[in-house]
Amino acid sequence: MSTAYIALGSNLGDSHQYLMDAIEALARLPQTRVVARSRFYRTPPWGLLDQPPFVNAAVQIDTALPAEALLDALLAIERAAGRVRDGERWGPRTLDLDLLYMEGVLLNDARLTLPHPRIAERAFVLLPLHDLAPELVIPGQGRVAELLAAIDHGECEALP
Ligand code: ADP
Ligand code: MG
Repeated sequence: MSTAYIALGSNLGDSHQYLMDAIEALARLPQTRVVARSRFYRTPPWGLLDQPPFVNAAVQIDTALPAEALLDALLAIERAAGRVRDGERWGPRTLDLDLLYMEGVLLNDARLTLPHPRIAERAFVLLPLHDLAPELVIPGQGRVAELLAAIDHGECEALP
């Protein structure tokens, strides 16, 4: 089993429910256990600014799935949530699942980059990840607590 961290985001429809359903779907994956989940955060849109705010979270899993199989599973869960990939990159979506980090896995191919290359610049990823693993060192980026301290996350708020 390896530890992995997955980022979840939604800014269309009932975002809170999409995230809850996605966590249930992750828990049903074969050879996989959801170990912990972060708080949920309301965060300003990123990339394309003219879109609704996001709800973001992260989960820690233990899994025996290889990274590529896990990515396939994440994309299938996105599709089941009605995600349509015809819009602009970074546009609004019912559900986005990103594989942030997988223990011992460094990868850079056409489909999958691990660790996720943009963790350090995204408060909406670092805040929930910090709930789960402040001491985690992301290879090539740094310790989660230090990455979070280095960026502005003033407009993000934890939801009750
Ligand atoms: P973003 O999440 O950056 O807004 P998309 O979700 O539309 O963009 O793009 C996801 C694509 O990125 C997937 O089809 C996948 O092949 C690729 N990808 C590369 N590395 C990762 C990763 N670590 N986690 C998730 N998707 C990844
Ligand atoms: Mg994605």
